[in-house]
Amino acid sequence: MTKKEANQTIHEARGLCWHEFDPMPRQEGKLDYDYQTCKHCRKHIRDSEEHNIDYHTPEGFFACWNWAKDEEWWEDFMDTLELRWLSDKKLRPLRYHMAELVDHLVFASILATFLKDRDKKSG
Ligand SMILES: [Zn+2]
Repeated sequence: MTKKEANQTIHEARGLCWHEFDPMPRQEGKLDYDYQTCKHCRKHIRDSEEHNIDYHTPEGFFACWNWAKDEEWWEDFMDTLELRWLSDKKLRPLRYHMAELVDHLVFASILATFLKDRDKKSG
């Protein structure tokens, strides 16, 4: 899963719009707008603004973490991780896995993978 796919999976699981835009041709003689309109939610977003959250940044990590830990599936998520850690063939100590869990470069991809698998199971 790419970073973009992981971001989009988490974003949509949070019930947020993953903003996307159709290329807008600049018309001669017309005002040059510095915003685009999302083709899904029709929100106007400035060109200079960040369109979608990147959960692989420290800010994105906390937005994701604070949301996820209050979700009904959080315990299932932790169970899944625990099973994976216990079946770790390299027998790395728990602190190794804890460090991975709170690493903003890693957490989003672990969580997005869990959310995808969960969607597959629920049909
Ligand atoms: Zn949108």
